[in-house]
Amino acid sequence: MTSPLKKYVFGPVRSRRLGRSLGVDLVTAKTCTFDCVYCEAGRTTDLTLDRRAYVPTEAVIAEIASVLSTDIPLDVVTFSGAGEPTLHAEIGDVISAIHALRPDLRVVVLTNGSLMGSAQVRRSLMNADQVKISVDAIGPDAVARINRPHPDLDWEQALEGIRLFCGTFGGDVSMEVFIVPGINDTQDELKKIADYLKPLQIAEVQINTLDRPGVESWVHQLDARRLEEIRAFLGDLAGIIGAPVNTVASRGPVCLSGLTSADVLEMIRRRPCTAEDISKTTGVSEGRVKQVLGALVAASVAQCEKQVRGTFYFTRC
Ligand code: SF4
Repeated sequence: MTSPLKKYVFGPVRSRRLGRSLGVDLVTAKTCTFDCVYCEAGRTTDLTLDRRAYVPTEAVIAEIASVLSTDIPLDVVTFSGAGEPTLHAEIGDVISAIHALRPDLRVVVLTNGSLMGSAQVRRSLMNADQVKISVDAIGPDAVARINRPHPDLDWEQALEGIRLFCGTFGGDVSMEVFIVPGINDTQDELKKIADYLKPLQIAEVQINTLDRPGVESWVHQLDARRLEEIRAFLGDLAGIIGAPVNTVASRGPVCLSGLTSADVLEMIRRRPCTAEDISKTTGVSEGRVKQVLGALVAASVAQCEKQVRGTFYFTRC
């Protein structure tokens, strides 16, 4: 595990899709081009389109280098965290530095795609191995209601930039569509999404739904039947990652964090754990672990019991 004193990297955490992932956070919380209604990182306090070095590039690279110089087993370095990583003007330099330090590691960037209209941003991601882009809606009204972008953001230009990026990027592009019931689950909006995604050169489309409390309490989870209908509608490349909590064990990684409910469930299936145990094992904050555990208990997937050392979480097979 990395030192808790690290400022820009977190984890490693285990992800079913990515393996052992070291997270890198390139912006200060919470800096983003969007203020999504479902964001797990809270309200955006710095809503901006301004690209700059939000955190010092050399310090980030030094911190990554110090982790990579240890014998901590890793498969991938993932740019995620509480905000939009492409806002950092030197993300390309950090990606190149990781490749120079450890050519064996894959580099993955999770982005909301909003800055892809910029050729400079597209170029800065060309050295990544995988880029996962969120496109929740095509229509400006739906985008405004779900993602609440910076008022000066040109979403049409961003969509065109994403299209160009998919056509030129040498690595894997995957798309994530977060479904907010009542907004982007209408046939009209889904058709726009399907029509946009169809010609793109992408590896997969991941459909997500609310798994833990987002920013707005009116956002709720989509039921499994409707999720499956949407998956079928979006075609062969589509899969569900944000399963309802009663099928949470099948989930993959989520936006902004490598720790999934499925990962936690696997741990407490093997032996009862406290939130502190899981936090120490994964490097993820105890508060966040408690959020995941709370959701599992609320869904009756896990149980808890107070003991001398703390509250233990477990499952009954
Ligand atoms: S979900 Fe991602 S894109 Fe949306 S506000 Fe949160 S960090 Fe930004």
